[in-house]
Amino acid sequence: MGRSRYHRSATLAQYRDWGQIATVSCNLCRGKRHYLPADLIEILGDCEGDRVERRMRCETCDRNDYLHVRYWSPIAADDYPITIRRLERIETIRRPVWRDERRT
Ligand SMILES: [Zn+2]
Repeated sequence: MGRSRYHRSATLAQYRDWGQIATVSCNLCRGKRHYLPADLIEILGDCEGDRVERRMRCETCDRNDYLHVRYWSPIAADDYPITIRRLERIETIRRPVWRDERRT
């Protein structure tokens, strides 16, 4: 199963270069957020645009199986003021990893 390998969506870097905006909507809570592809590359790497909905989580539901992403060009941006959710920083969580050491 899967999509035909001849049908590939554009990559995040392409959407970035085209000046497009990624709008991720959640069909469960009806939330909608707008991102810059450049920010998504920071956290996901440059992947196919279609993959974003599988690799992100809804910040409200904490689920990803209802996410849908689409890319569009803000041609008349002044007519449609939107809030872009920018990447502020990436926090690295420190987590201890333990091992047992047997003393003989
Ligand atoms: Zn949601």
